[in-house]
Order: sequence, then C-alpha cells, then structure tokens
Amino acid sequence: MSVSLFWAKGQGYCRRKASILFFKRPFVIRTQRPLISFSFDDFPESALRTGGAILKHFGLAGTYYASLGLMGKDTATGRIFGPADLGVVCEQGHELGCHTFSHCHAWDTATRAFEEAIIDNRSALHDLLPGVEFQTFSYPISGPRPLTKLRAAEHFLCCRGGGQKFNVGTTDLNNLSAYFLEKTRHRIELVKDLIDHNRQALGWLIFATHDISDNPTPYGCVPGFFEEVVRYAVASGANILPVVEALKALRSARM
Ligand SMILES: [Zn+2]
Repeated sequence: MSVSLFWAKGQGYCRRKASILFFKRPFVIRTQRPLISFSFDDFPESALRTGGAILKHFGLAGTYYASLGLMGKDTATGRIFGPADLGVVCEQGHELGCHTFSHCHAWDTATRAFEEAIIDNRSALHDLLPGVEFQTFSYPISGPRPLTKLRAAEHFLCCRGGGQKFNVGTTDLNNLSAYFLEKTRHRIELVKDLIDHNRQALGWLIFATHDISDNPTPYGCVPGFFEEVVRYAVASGANILPVVEALKALRSARM
C-alpha cells in the first residue's frame, strides 16, 4: 500500500469514527415487529418512476431524499427529478426528505454553509409545495463532521448516514445507519442475510440507493434486483414504512 493510500484510509477511518462518536441523540429500538425502510438519495427520476412503481406494486412507500438545487440536472447518479415529481412523491404517499439544497459534502463543507444549504432546501420546497415539510435528512456523500451533525440535528426528527448495517439496540437519531444496496448489487444473498438478521434482532433496517434502471450508474441497481429485495423484505414479515413513519411507529411502540 502506498503512503498516500495508507494516509487516505487512516483519515477515512478517523472521520467515520468522529461522525459516529460525537453529538449523539440516543434512541432505544424496542419493537415486537422488525422494521424496514427504503430510501433513495438525490433522487434520480428512475428512483421514483421505476423504484416507486415497484414499491407501489407491493402497496409500499419509501423516502426520497431531495437536493432541490440538483433538480433536472444530469449527475453521477443519473437525471435528477423535476419539479412535478415532488408533488408525485407526496401524492403517492412517499416521504420527501432533505439532502441539502446543493448536495453538500457532509464532511468537507463548513458547518455554517452546510446549515444554510439545509435552510435553502426548505425554502425552495416551500416555494414549490407550500405546506410540505422535510422531517428527516440524509447526509450527502460522507458521514458528517461533528459540528455539522449537531447543527443538522436541530432541523430534523432524525438524520441518516451509511455504515452498511441495520439499527438495533441503542441507535443514534443523528446518524442512523443505512445499507446502500448498490454496494452488493451482484450479491443478493448478502442482502437477504441482512434482512434475516434484522428480523431475528427486531431491528430497523434502512436501505438506501440512487437510480433504479436497466443500465444503472455505479450508485444504483437494476429493477430486478430491487424488486427481489422488496419481495424478500415483505416475506420477512417486517413493517415496511418510510423513514419518518418507521420512527413514529417505534416511538409509539415504546409508550
Ligand atoms: Zn446524495
């Protein structure tokens, strides 16, 4: 391993640890029935048109984390949603979540600029869909720097990161774990194992991905794979809800 690669890996490890360790909002998951959420970051048109159609086929809804500054643009995750798609998300019973206005890197962006991008995204949503509010958030590109995590927490019921695992026991509402499907899109058995473990542990498994298309970007997956994951999730007996609804279900289960 070269010195620079070694240094980059060490730095990545330290950042991940810092994202996890500081400014937690502990939340104990206690439920009789496991939960699963499906979320899409950015979100490309195909996440709604193809991914949303698959969820709808099973009578389910997901969470769409939108950066309104990316609207209509061609990006590394495909063509991003247009203004009309925001209304469609709400009409179809999905959740609209925040992903900052301009898709700010959660570690590299200064905390003040990051928080402004949260506020800008909210303002842009108010202009297009008055009365609709973002309630949950996902960090773009990276885990958050600690102060950014602290500031973001003030705006949302919960914030989601990555980590390739499900949430169980005491979790952190300021940095919920998620499993990015594209990272194992050629190994469905790993995803099925995870769903099985989530069922046994009575946890909350949040899936994330980007585009759902026959020719996906490196950040998305094909419809057949996504559909198989959804079918297996349904068969597991989990309660499958958008992120904000899953959180509410967990809160009421504890009362
Ligand atoms: Zn993103």
